[in-house]
Parts: sequence; C-alpha cells; structure tokens
Amino acid sequence: MIYENYTILTPGPVKMSDRTLTLGAKQVPYFRNQPFSDVVLGCESLLLEMVNSPSGSRAVFLTASGTAGMESVVMNLLDSDDNALVINGGTFGQRFVHICNQYDIPSKEINPNKGNLSDIDQCVDGSKYSACLVNAHETSIGLLYDLEAIGKFCHKHNMLNIVDAISMFTTDKLDMTTQFIDVVIMSSQKGLALPPGLTVIILSPNAIEKLNNIRGLYFNFKQYLKDGERGQTPYTPAVSIIIQLYDRLTQIKEDGGIEQTIKNAFDCSFYFRDKIKHLPLSLNTDFPSNGLTALTMNSNHGAKKLLSFLEEKYKIIACPNGGELSDILFRVSHMGFVNKTDMEKLIEALEDFFNSESE
Ligand SMILES: *Cc1c(COP(=O)(O)O)cnc(C)c1O
Repeated sequence: MIYENYTILTPGPVKMSDRTLTLGAKQVPYFRNQPFSDVVLGCESLLLEMVNSPSGSRAVFLTASGTAGMESVVMNLLDSDDNALVINGGTFGQRFVHICNQYDIPSKEINPNKGNLSDIDQCVDGSKYSACLVNAHETSIGLLYDLEAIGKFCHKHNMLNIVDAISMFTTDKLDMTTQFIDVVIMSSQKGLALPPGLTVIILSPNAIEKLNNIRGLYFNFKQYLKDGERGQTPYTPAVSIIIQLYDRLTQIKEDGGIEQTIKNAFDCSFYFRDKIKHLPLSLNTDFPSNGLTALTMNSNHGAKKLLSFLEEKYKIIACPNGGELSDILFRVSHMGFVNKTDMEKLIEALEDFFNSESE
C-alpha cells in the first residue's frame, strides 16, 4: 500500500494500532447471532461509560461516514417547529447549516469569530432557540469550543444540545452529564483510530423522548434503538469495524481509560507546540484541541510546498486546508497512534524545510 511506512498525521483516517490492523485482515463473520450481538452490546456499554452518559442513554450504530451521523440527527430530532442555533466557525459548522436548510429546519447561524464561546450566554439570546448544533472541535481550523459553557447555556434555556464530537472523542474531555449534552455524534476514522465507515450516535433519555417518526427507512433511529436492545442493527452493519471498535475500546480501558488516552493526546500536542516555537509558524487559534494543531505560515504562503517537502523527503503526511487557506494553513493531527517520536521526526523535517528555504 502507498502509505506503508509513512508517518500519518492527517485528521482522519489516522494511524491505526497493530491490533486493529490484524483484526481488519480477518474473515468477516456472520452477524445475526449471539456472539455478534454481545460485541455490539459491549461497544454500547463501553461507549456510554466513556462519555459519562446519563442513565438510560442509548447508542445507534450507523454504517456511514460522519456526515450521515450529522444529517440523521437533524432528521430524527428536529422539525419545522424547532429553531436551531448553529455554531458555524468553519467547514463543519457550515455543513450543519447546509443540512438544516435541506430539511427546512428554522435555524440561525452564529460565527464565533475564532472565539471558543465561553461567553455564549452573554452573546446569544438563548430563549429564542430549541436546539443547539455544534462541532465540538471545528476540525477545519483546529478550534475546540467550550463545551462546559455551551452545555450550561443549553441547560438554562432548555435547548437540545447536539454535539458533533467526531474529531475530539478520545483526545479531549467529553462528558454528557456535566456538560449537559443530549446527543453525541462520533465516527470511526478520527480519534477512535479505526477504518472509515461507522458512525455512532449517543442519545440521552431526553433526546430519545424527542425522536421524530421520520419517513425515511435507513436512518430511522427508532428502529435502530429497537433492534439494538438485542444487540442488532436493522441492516447489515460494518461488521469488521464494530469488531475493531470493541477491541479498541477494550484497549483504551486496559491502557488506563479514556482519561489516559486524552492525556496522551494532550502530551503529544503540548510537546509539539512547545518545540516549534522557534520556527516561522503560528498557532491558528488560541483554543487548540489536543487532537490537532493548525498552523499558519508566518510568510503567508508556502504551505503547499511545505507539505510536498514533508511527504517526498520524509514520508510524513500532514494535512492541507482547502480553499483560500490552502497555501497559508496546514494541520497536524495528534489523533490515533502517534507519539512524541513521530512529533520529533516532524519537528526535524520542519527545521530542515525552513533551513533550506532561508538558504
Ligand atoms: C471528519 C468530521 C466529520 C465527518 O466527516 P465524514 O467525511 O463524513 O466522515 C464531521 N464533523 C467533524 C467535526 C469532522 O472532523
């Protein structure tokens, strides 16, 4: 494969563990039986525990990419009687705006202008809204919102708090109970470090009570919850990814729990940011997540050249940005199985790049 022996620092797919890779090479088993049901039920209970969900919460396992998780949550939980507040601070916030428009959900977007919304209760009149949609980590710019403040705000104004945690589950703190979260969306190919194809939606009892009777078939959460009671899904799931998920969650527990996994990401990102202070690069945000470092070129150009240099000379794959920022901004992921050694390798390569540029 092309990326064998590469250092993979993209925010999805991320570097997977040898355990995950080994499982992925096995024959996919039949799944309408008790052994597979036990795996699904095991995944659900481990996930509910790791996000500290309120008792009575449930998980929906959808075979689809993360965007389907976002879209299906809007389909199942919002309707024309709602008024949704959408936090739009980048590409993924824009996607929620787009989805609400597609389904004619009354909504208003706010642009936090690179702030983390710790002051949301002062800036927004919460009494006007029935739900809040936020991408906890706006992956396009590496910004982590203040989930505590947003949760309190939603709780105070009785809003349904819908959190896309796709790029921060396992790297930053996520707690449905203390952060007053009703819905969590996660996806296999980010911090969970699995292949793409599985998205999981966790619903609090409050969200379960609000589920719509939707017209669609594949994305009908009520059916997933019903079949999920016995550890099954209505349609063929991504069987192998669910098996890998169970193993990964077990591994997280063995390695000291979700807190330890978050700490590893913190250590890795802190180390990296500390060691590149002498380079002509700036952090793109004052509120970086532990899962990603987004960097701006101080010279305002050259990001594309830098990324090609890293790939060609060092076999390091960092992540470009799209659109206007493509030559200014680039991103380094700390999700999955990357460690300080990978960061050291990257730092050395960055030093080499800027030395060769100044010659
Ligand atoms: C990656 C990501 C998604 C999902 O993208 P897909 O390509 O559909 O898997 C959604 N939200 C955020 C914040 C993400 O980082």
